[in-house]
Amino acid sequence: MAQRVRELRAAGKPVLSLLLGEPDFPVPSPLQEAAIAAIREGHAPYPPVAGLLPLREAIADYYHRTYGLPYAAPQVVVSNGSKQAIFNALLSVVEPGDEVILPSPYWVSYLPLVQLAEGKPMVVPTGPETHYKLTPEALVEVLSPRTRAVILCSPSNPTGSAYSRSELAAIAEVLQSHPQVWVISDEIYELIRYSGSHVSPAQFPQLFDRTIICNGFSKAFAMPGWRLGYLIAPRQIADAATKVQGQTTAGANIIAQKAAIAGLRSDIQTLLAPMIRDFQERRDYIYNYIRQHLPEVKPYLPEGAFYFFLDMSDFLNRKSPAGQPLRNADELADYLLDNGIAVVPGTGFGSDKHIRISYAVALSEIQAGLPRLVEALRALD
Ligand code: PMP
Repeated sequence: MAQRVRELRAAGKPVLSLLLGEPDFPVPSPLQEAAIAAIREGHAPYPPVAGLLPLREAIADYYHRTYGLPYAAPQVVVSNGSKQAIFNALLSVVEPGDEVILPSPYWVSYLPLVQLAEGKPMVVPTGPETHYKLTPEALVEVLSPRTRAVILCSPSNPTGSAYSRSELAAIAEVLQSHPQVWVISDEIYELIRYSGSHVSPAQFPQLFDRTIICNGFSKAFAMPGWRLGYLIAPRQIADAATKVQGQTTAGANIIAQKAAIAGLRSDIQTLLAPMIRDFQERRDYIYNYIRQHLPEVKPYLPEGAFYFFLDMSDFLNRKSPAGQPLRNADELADYLLDNGIAVVPGTGFGSDKHIRISYAVALSEIQAGLPRLVEALRALD
């Protein structure tokens, strides 16, 4: 999709791209300064495989002071992005044939990463009535003696919904009687919240010893291209993840690590407030606009991240003005792109009836582009 957007723009066509999975904000200045200072130091040694000790300490300290979790630096493994942290986690706990529960919709990479680790993805569909969150009832249904892990993502890409304390408590209670199950908790959007506050599965005593937190600096700190993420886990998993990483990529970029230390030592809330405020303004605008102009999509207000995941069922199995049948989200996304609006079809997230739109785009562009979306959808027969 991104390639087609570039081609259309090069041909002079206006396209509103709602594809982006990265903030449209610069790296906050304390992190930029720390990175520049790191370059000027002039030394570029191999970093330790699991990360610089001050960064591992800063991460453990961040989770301690923010969520009351008593982590220590040896439990932290710094990686080249949180995607690598998730893969390290899976390689550390999954044996061939082990089942890994994926509530759907899921972030696109979970399923292939489980397959690469030779696990068996067990996809559990969720619905709009729970804002696409896993219920204890659905979890009970899918758990088996072969279940090795469940992957949770809160706030979620693609849905923007987040688990509350009571929802996670109910999941923790179910997992209490399945002690072989690890919780891989993707918390990469934890700092991008508009309402409520983040809760980690690790905060439940039954799950503390079997939660693997995966997080990173690509979203809140707007540095996806600097590739930095981490996991925090019980010591044996952190050691296993370090072994895996030691033979694959070794330690992460040392410049990015020094920037991240500065980020975690800064007043994070103040640093991120302008970005969160802008995201929230865009979220509110899109939500109100869609409710008013496309009520059949029935959007819900995302609590975090920067996406809407929209159910387009009412617009499928119709025809474009050119007579083209639009049978699924891929065909609908192609049609919308022809009409100057780029969205991600839900297929990669586990639904061929949804589209994902990102609001990591200036409000003025959103305001100019949304009428095109409505116009294109209203033109369907
Ligand atoms: N998890 C989720 C839910 C994501 O949305 C992303 C990025 N799109 C990642 C993990 C990976 O992030 P990174 O590897 O850049 O840290």
